[in-house]
This record gives sequence, structure tokens and C-alpha cells, in this order.
Amino acid sequence: MTTKQNELILVINAGSSSIKFSLFENSAADPVLLYKGLAEGIYVDPKFTAKDASDAKLVSAEAIPGSAKNHDEALRHMLAWINGVINGRKIAVIGHRVVHGGTKFSQPVVVTAEVVSELEKLIPLAPLHEPHNITPIKILQGLLPDVPQVACFDTAFHANQPELNQLYGLPYEFSQQEGIRRYGFHGLSYEYIASVLPQIDARAAEGRTVVCHLGNGSSMAALQACKGIASTMGFTALEGLPMGTRTGSIDAGVVLHLLNHLKMDAKQIEDLLYKKSGLLGMSGISSDMRDLEASDSPRAKLAIDYFVSRIVRETGSLAAALQGIDALVFTAGIGENDALTRAAVCAQLGWLGVIVDPAANAVRSGEPRRISAEDSKVAVYVIPTNEELMIARQANTCVA
Ligand code: ADP
Repeated sequence: MTTKQNELILVINAGSSSIKFSLFENSAADPVLLYKGLAEGIYVDPKFTAKDASDAKLVSAEAIPGSAKNHDEALRHMLAWINGVINGRKIAVIGHRVVHGGTKFSQPVVVTAEVVSELEKLIPLAPLHEPHNITPIKILQGLLPDVPQVACFDTAFHANQPELNQLYGLPYEFSQQEGIRRYGFHGLSYEYIASVLPQIDARAAEGRTVVCHLGNGSSMAALQACKGIASTMGFTALEGLPMGTRTGSIDAGVVLHLLNHLKMDAKQIEDLLYKKSGLLGMSGISSDMRDLEASDSPRAKLAIDYFVSRIVRETGSLAAALQGIDALVFTAGIGENDALTRAAVCAQLGWLGVIVDPAANAVRSGEPRRISAEDSKVAVYVIPTNEELMIARQANTCVA
């Protein structure tokens, strides 16, 4: 059983300094977006913004009153605004993005006190994200005690990867007893892509697809018949591709060197790997691809070239895991909007049978589209992702 038609589904995606929300209304088909927005600058200068479904701003960076400036105040402010626009209608379910489900959660789950305590045990696996995902769950248990909440996991899509693709070359007990294994992330995005792929390309949906989720955080996944079998991200969201400010894969020996010879402490190394590297660190200019493309600095070019070359190499690796490739999909901020990156990646994948149609690649649209040439052996698509809709769907189907 799912929530009833016209009931409201609230989706929450919380981070360390921001809480994003989307409010959906149930319909006979997919949930329909009504409003979205965010509280940002939490702990510093909290501001609230809200938009309608057509992206028109209803509230623009309005200061959130209060002295605590914390998640609690931000959520109360957000809920008060939502209550104002829904005019007495009740929220039927709340879906939360939760970054890590560990080995325990491979499906969305209705939140209970026991689930919260299990989620808290996962904090060491994702210390920068998991606590901020749990905080709004607890606050909303207090504010809306009668509304069921559902945790939707970014790791769940990858939970059934073959064991070989989940392991590191560490002694086996580390994966079994300590949970040190490759989990993979961005699963809600991949699951959304997998859900729409059958309508876009039936052959790819039954076959072998590599999806490139290229945003601020970037990763890639290999889909066999729409199921995840390998991913570039592993134990944390640091592995794989270089990202806006994260290194991507790096020899673990470098970390030992930073620790032992450069005498950096754990916090400094964490800062370096997560916040000062990737496109930002390599270019010395910005973590935003638009800034790098607008720059004529050789280091901006170097950062872009490195990003592209890692995507190309990971495509080879994932195609090998799939034993071939029928389709390549680009999604997220860079994947959806950046024709230059897509063209550069595809140009270096000619050996795999990828041929891009330059006119199709140049089209700007919010719709899924094919960008490969007729004679390309591999079909190439741009498919806008929709993680919020995926959470709304999961929350909807999870509540009885
Ligand atoms: P997040 O991981 O925060 O959800 P997004 O998926 O929104 O990030 O991606 C954000 C990134 O997308 C930006 O940092 C920027 O580099 C890139 N981006 C957005 N629009 C464009 C564009 N028109 N051209 C190139 N890059 C873009």
C-alpha cells in the first residue's frame, strides 16, 4: 500500500550547513513536485529560500530568525513556511536522504527508535555526512511525531554488487568485521536513471550501461540490466573520480607520507583530501567547472584534462567489469549541462565505439536526450537525474 492520492510527501536532504526540502503531492502516476527550497548558512548566517515547481522564487534568501542558528531553528522555520502554503493539509510521509546504509540497510526503511540507533552506529563510516542526515530525522520526530519518516540510502543501489567489486586487498577480516569495503554512493541518482532507462533505451536497460554522475561530487557506476555491479566510489565518497574539491583515488601511501614525513595531522589531511583538492586544488581557481572553462589559465585546463582523463579511464574499467558496453549516460550538474566535458570524454572513447553527434550534444534541455551519432556502437545519453523524486517514490512505497 502507498500513501493515498493527493497526500503530501516531504523530502529532506540535509548537510552540515544546509537543509534542502522538496514537497510532492501524490498522484496516480509519479509524485508531483509542488515546492522546493533550502535553509543554508546554518551556524553562520541562516537564510531561507523557497521556489515553486517552475523554479519561480517565492522566498529569496530571507534571514531565519533565532539565536541558535542551528538545524532545529532552520527546520522549524521551513516547516512553518510549508504549513503556510499547504493550508491545513497534512504531510503523509517524510523521506530523508541518508548517505550511508552500511551492510544493514540495502532498502529504504521506516524510521523507528531502533533504526535511529542503527544509523548512529554508522556515523564512523561517514562522519562528515551521516550525523547531519540523522539530525533532522530526530528533530522531526519531535515536531511531527505522527508522521512516518523513511530513510533512503545512497549506498543501497550498490548493495548487491558482486563481492569482488566490494572488496579491497586488505586481510579479509577487515571487510567482515570492520565493514571496510567498497559501498559506493550516489545510489539514489543511479536508481532514478535505472528507473527511466527502460523507456529511453530498452536494449541498454536489459544490457550494459555506464552512468557518469558528474556534479560537485562525481562518481560512475556500471549497470547490468539496471542493477549496480561496480562503482568508482568505495568505502567513502572520496574514491574514484576527482571532484570539485575532493582528490578522487589516490595511493594510500601518499596519506602515510603526509602523516609521517610532512607531519600533517588527521584533520589537516582530511581537509586536504576533501576540501582543497580536485578541480579547486589542481586549478588553484575554482571548484566550479564553469569558472574553469571560462579561464585561460593553464592550470584550469590541466584540472579539466585530468577530470576528463579519469572519466575515460574509469569508463574502460567499468566496461571491463560489464564485459562490454551498450550505453553511456551523463547526468548531474556537469553531466547534464557541460557539452565540452561530454565531447572531450566521448572523443577519447572512440576506441570503444563511441561517436558523438556534435549538434545533438550542443542541445540544451532539461529532457533526456540521445547525443550519439546513428553509427555509434555505444548509445550515449544525457538524462537529468532526480534524486528528490526517487526519495519521494521510495518514501511513498515504504509506508504501509
Ligand atoms: P551537487 O553534487 O552539489 O548536487 P550538481 O550536480 O548541482 O552538484 O553539480 C554542480 C556542478 O555542475 C557545478 O560545480 C558546476 O561545475 C557544474 N555545472 C553546472 N552548470 C554547468 C554548466 N552550464 N556548464 C558546466 N558546468 C556546469
